[in-house]
Amino acid sequence: MIKATDIKEWGIVGAGGAGFPTYVKLGAEAEIFIVNAAECEPLLHKDKEILFHHTAQFFQGLAHCIRLTRAKRAIIGIKGKYKELIKHLQAHCPPEVAIFALRNFYPAGDEITLIYETTGRVVGAGELPISQQVVVQNVETILNIGRERPVTTSFLTVGGAVAHPMSLEVPIGVSFREVIALAQPTCEDYTVMIGGPMMGKLCEDLDTPVVKNTGGLLVFPKGHQLTAIHQDMLDPGRVAKIGKAACDQCSMCSELCPRSLLGHPVKPHLAMRGLLFSDGSFTADEQQAHTLSCCECNLCTLMACPEGLLPSQSCILNKRALIREKKRFTGTPENQAHPLIAYRRMPMERVMARLDLNRFRNSGPLTTFPGTPHQVTVLLQQHIGAPATPVVRQGDFVAAGTKIATVGDQLGAEIHAPINGNIQAISKTSILITHCQLPEPKQAEDA
Ligand code: SF4
Ligand code: SF4
Repeated sequence: MIKATDIKEWGIVGAGGAGFPTYVKLGAEAEIFIVNAAECEPLLHKDKEILFHHTAQFFQGLAHCIRLTRAKRAIIGIKGKYKELIKHLQAHCPPEVAIFALRNFYPAGDEITLIYETTGRVVGAGELPISQQVVVQNVETILNIGRERPVTTSFLTVGGAVAHPMSLEVPIGVSFREVIALAQPTCEDYTVMIGGPMMGKLCEDLDTPVVKNTGGLLVFPKGHQLTAIHQDMLDPGRVAKIGKAACDQCSMCSELCPRSLLGHPVKPHLAMRGLLFSDGSFTADEQQAHTLSCCECNLCTLMACPEGLLPSQSCILNKRALIREKKRFTGTPENQAHPLIAYRRMPMERVMARLDLNRFRNSGPLTTFPGTPHQVTVLLQQHIGAPATPVVRQGDFVAAGTKIATVGDQLGAEIHAPINGNIQAISKTSILITHCQLPEPKQAEDA
């Protein structure tokens, strides 16, 4: 029987989000355990592949989660369009696990949206799912629990403008450059997005290493409309300039905002209105405290705004300023779903068409990284919480799975060697391991 301390020891963090330590989440007692298998980012499909190819270990992990949270039942929230996969899962489902077929909309995988869709419960603004007696985990995290061993690999989809789109399992610390090369980009001049097209971030350095929560690498031809918008989003001055010039306050952004539709206070058109009357800087203005409930899905910017403005960034920049100043929302949120919520969902087909993604529609097979990388750069902070402190020294030999850094009693995650190798260098932020055959135990002692 595994315990929460084992999950901590194996360094398991939320593989689908910001890397929150899983042992903390599973420390809560809940009525319902929900599996987030919605995978709502266009073009990403590694969770689907995990469920198909690692079914037994996934269900083993799910059983551990149900037992640890003392949940009475579990729900797997998955897109109804995956009919074959649902049939496959049904054949393995224990009686306490139900499958909920989600409509194909964005962002079905937003945790709070998923809870509403699968249970009808509305998690209030600023509250955690446990306030509704629910714990949510994503597919890869549950698989990692079912494997009952340290996390040394990450699953990700490589897609977009590539000859061989694929989902693959790679050692943590391998560079994006090496992973992308396997899929063979079809254009010379390209931009890479880390994560999905909606919430992903532009990659600034292809030598960045894969971490525990890297979920996708998407290759876009230089100048693709999506990367141009994401580029604009990175520049607060541009966000303010564009917003001040052209927002006509039509409020479409708020009408379609998934959090606003659940009665949360966020109203992107109000963030844009605030911009019209500001000097264009984003300060911790309490009038904008509604933005604290923005989930950063970017739907308002990429799909709702008819003027091509950046309301999500206006919300996000306000939200960050408010968080920095530790400001809170003091009004009374409705926390009740809008009566028309079901009719205001954004169909995935529309997202694909609007963002010019149909030409990349693909579903490559699941594969593994060929052989062992020559070297890996393992970051000491791949999670929420304190960075880990190295417990190895330069020159040490380590076997794959050996602990190389720890957070001790602090919130965070233990870090393990992804490959057999020699510790080449240790910096403030990472440990570099070069692959080699391990010496016999006696030689290791001498070394
Ligand atoms: S940001 Fe766009 S959608 Fe929102 S109010 Fe302004 S013009 Fe309308
Ligand atoms: S990014 Fe826009 S649509 Fe998404 S939650 Fe924030 S305000 Fe709403």
